[in-house]
Amino acid sequence: MDVRSFMPSEEECAIVLRDVRWRWGAVCPRCGSRSVIRHGRHLRVYQRYLCKGCGRHFNDRTGAQFEGSKLPLRVWFSVAFLMQYKISVKEMAKTAKISYPTAFNMAGTLRRGLCLSHLQERLKGIVELDDVYVTAGLKGKRCLKRPPRVRSLKVRGRGAYKTDKPAIMGMVERGGTVKLIPSANMTEQAVLRRVMRSIREDVEAIYTDEYPAYHILDGFRNHQTVNHSIGEYARDGGIHINTVEAEFSVFRP
Ligand SMILES: [Zn+2]
Repeated sequence: MDVRSFMPSEEECAIVLRDVRWRWGAVCPRCGSRSVIRHGRHLRVYQRYLCKGCGRHFNDRTGAQFEGSKLPLRVWFSVAFLMQYKISVKEMAKTAKISYPTAFNMAGTLRRGLCLSHLQERLKGIVELDDVYVTAGLKGKRCLKRPPRVRSLKVRGRGAYKTDKPAIMGMVERGGTVKLIPSANMTEQAVLRRVMRSIREDVEAIYTDEYPAYHILDGFRNHQTVNHSIGEYARDGGIHINTVEAEFSVFRP
């Protein structure tokens, strides 16, 4: 008896994968076509499909993280299951009865997948946007092995990557995801690029402070600002950027 005795069969795992992955119908991983028909089985267990868009076959595992892996789905599922409990890779390997290097690689692959899906997710609803500047590098640290540069932190104006004080752009979906994105500078173009990439077009509202670069967001989407320089921190209707500023508090210490 081990953890595998409690695991469902490979067929059952394949059914679960199919249900999750093709929730809205099968999509060809190569051309993105939805014009897909079932076409036999792959290794007797996985459903095979024929794409009418590109004329090629694929199966339940094609394009997924474990494509090309010789391990059965039930091993992947048990490692994914064990990963929720924050146990070590060594324990994971022992419990799932696989070698340490295998478990190590599997955990890495699953973790990268999680990270990617998180990065691709775009923010919606009410989004707060702000920037913070952090001192980068080894400046001021005892282990620094070069003579201190004269310009040091005396550089005036807003920080930039060039002055060792890069901007971190923070975006928070109220009640949802937080994104912290390092940025070489805070020009209008940089702001626009990040916003287009990270926020959905049908966003309800974007709140920022009065920093000039944010004015590029005026007019398209409900963009509202709070003016910190006149002591304004919140306006009627819940217009504030306190949520994102709270996220930045981790950088100060
Ligand atoms: Zn196709």
